[in-house]
Amino acid sequence: MRDLPLHPATLAVHAGAEPDPVTGAVAPPIHLATTFKHGPAGERLAGYEYQREGNPTQDRLETALAALEGGQAALAYASGMAAMTGLLESLPNGARVLVPDDCYSGLRYLCREFLPERGIEAVAVDMTDIATVERACSGRVDLVWVETPSNPRMKVSDIVALAAMAHAHGALLACDNTFATPVLQRPLALGADVVMHSTTKYFGGHSDVLGGALVFARRDAFFDHVAHRRHITGPVMSPFNAWLTLRGCRSLPARMALHCANARRLAAALAEHPRVERVNYPGLAAHPGHEVAARQMHDFGGMLSVELQGGRERTLAVAGKLRLFTNATSLGGCESLIEHRASVEGANPVSPQNLLRVSVGLEYVDDLIADWMQALAD
Ligand SMILES: *Cc1c(COP(=O)(O)O)cnc(C)c1O
Repeated sequence: MRDLPLHPATLAVHAGAEPDPVTGAVAPPIHLATTFKHGPAGERLAGYEYQREGNPTQDRLETALAALEGGQAALAYASGMAAMTGLLESLPNGARVLVPDDCYSGLRYLCREFLPERGIEAVAVDMTDIATVERACSGRVDLVWVETPSNPRMKVSDIVALAAMAHAHGALLACDNTFATPVLQRPLALGADVVMHSTTKYFGGHSDVLGGALVFARRDAFFDHVAHRRHITGPVMSPFNAWLTLRGCRSLPARMALHCANARRLAAALAEHPRVERVNYPGLAAHPGHEVAARQMHDFGGMLSVELQGGRERTLAVAGKLRLFTNATSLGGCESLIEHRASVEGANPVSPQNLLRVSVGLEYVDDLIADWMQALAD
């Protein structure tokens, strides 16, 4: 399937979607079996042995994810963090990785608390500044991690430039593509070696299924190493979650189109409001990453963050007055969500106190804009 020149919207519907060969069922079955019959000497009869190693429902999802990202292989995990950990802990002892200064908070915790236990050093750099990244590449570097657009400031990093730099230093480039999804951005085609997803977000799409994935440009020895690690350490996605995620995959391109259209309208309306200091949305011409985003993304996504005038108290008041935007963490579902990131980042928050992160949902956009206008009014 992935060798045919099909549009991602077509792949999203058809990849891993062959009717069940036994029953002809058009919707895929969920295979809950933990174990599969083998021959007396362990001969595999249908390719499977034990659910943790591999199973038919997960295979369908991995086929779809690999096709959508244009990779040779994919691995599904129990969560986005399990996928991220599965990749980073596969690096050798003594490895040094560069990570973005603005990134998903789980990556920050992983780098601070757990990677050092494995003898892996993580250095935070501004991935939007190529000269800074180049300087950080002096000495050993095994992997460069990029997240673009980033959470929550929506910083945009140039994947082509970072891939060239990582490769020049013998390092891999991994990209957290959760915010963009392969519908908007395909990092492997831009030179990245591995793509990571929290499928909990846009792939699942309905705020009801946790999951993560890695997609590899090449099915090589490193892929085998990471796959073996997942098999043995066991952070696998359940078949039911794989099935739900695959279901979300089918409508991903259609949902992304509306997320993007809604976010673009809301960002423009907020950018004009006198009570708004700044709107971080790469679709706005004034955004510092707009040009790079326009080059490497098909559209600008459904996430934005907004910095309000008046500091923490006023920002929390606005968050409390919104009716259609639920105060909740996570993103990428049908319903619009908002979150005061500084309040949930623990003892030493890195997000500004006047910043709200917004996951723009699939509601009618004029209702969403009107909600913000009433919340911003006195
Ligand atoms: C949510 C998220 C993660 C972590 O994924 P989980 O599924 O919650 O473990 C990683 N990166 C980004 C950008 C995310 O939004």
